[in-house]
Amino acid sequence: MDGMTGLERPFVEIDDVSMRYGGTEGTLALHHCDMQVKRGEFVAVVGPSGCGKSTLMRLVTGLWPCSAGSVIVAGREVDGPLSVAGMAFQAPTLLPWRTILQNVMLPLEVTEPHRRRLRSERAMYEEKARKLLALVGLKGFEHKNPHQLSGGMQQRASLCRALVHDPQLLMLDEPFGALDVFTREDLWVEMQTVCETLKPTVILVTHDLKEAVFLADRVLIMSARPGRIIAERTVPFPRPRALDLTYTQPFQELVHDLRDHISAARRGEDMPAAVPAQETTHAA
Ligand code: ADP
Repeated sequence: MDGMTGLERPFVEIDDVSMRYGGTEGTLALHHCDMQVKRGEFVAVVGPSGCGKSTLMRLVTGLWPCSAGSVIVAGREVDGPLSVAGMAFQAPTLLPWRTILQNVMLPLEVTEPHRRRLRSERAMYEEKARKLLALVGLKGFEHKNPHQLSGGMQQRASLCRALVHDPQLLMLDEPFGALDVFTREDLWVEMQTVCETLKPTVILVTHDLKEAVFLADRVLIMSARPGRIIAERTVPFPRPRALDLTYTQPFQELVHDLRDHISAARRGEDMPAAVPAQETTHAA
């Protein structure tokens, strides 16, 4: 299918989605939200705090139903928790009584076809989990418990857990948000390596605009609540990207451009360039 990417149906299609929490008088979190993500694409979603970014993640992974509109992943309407997705959140959420290796292998115990195969092919799966841990620099820590690892190391393990069942879709909600800046930047580079190796489709929610530009192929900007996508920017920098890129003028200009959009969105204004996403042109 690679050769026909341009013609392929988007892997994630969010079509005119609205979401209201707590009945008809409740909070309208998303309103007329449209978004499409191609297979293998890395998309970052940025926007003012409380604009509905996490809500969008919950709808795509089927953890909540939308109030109106449709969410389609891999050609099928999402109507319950999605088994093709791997997820990582701001808090690492590792189970404290399990070793790192056992934590990483957890999704294999609950998603098919792995669950069925795990007993007879445990050695193969364990090798896979070990390889992922080595990829993010955790070789030698397989049999430690989470409390024996730093926050950054726990977050690396969480990323391995999100990836171990070969998810076609990786959903990342502020996964590096709780880390110090050096650890966070190291993890961006590791994340990039993981994505180049495994090539999942990724949706990353972040309030860190540098992170969005460093990691993504495309950045989508949301309005203030009720959230919808008001603009997008394609990130033109070739891969692999090195951290030095973040100090260059074109990188910083793109970050500033995003920041201007978000400031305007917070004030409830539409930037002159904030036309519907499909009509926007790429960053200069
Ligand atoms: P973001 O991730 O962009 O900060 P959220 O998606 O978490 O925003 O929230 C969007 C809006 O929906 C906020 O006003 C928030 O208070 C509200 N909200 C989020 N979760 C719930 C919930 N479970 N019940 C009621 N309101 C909620």
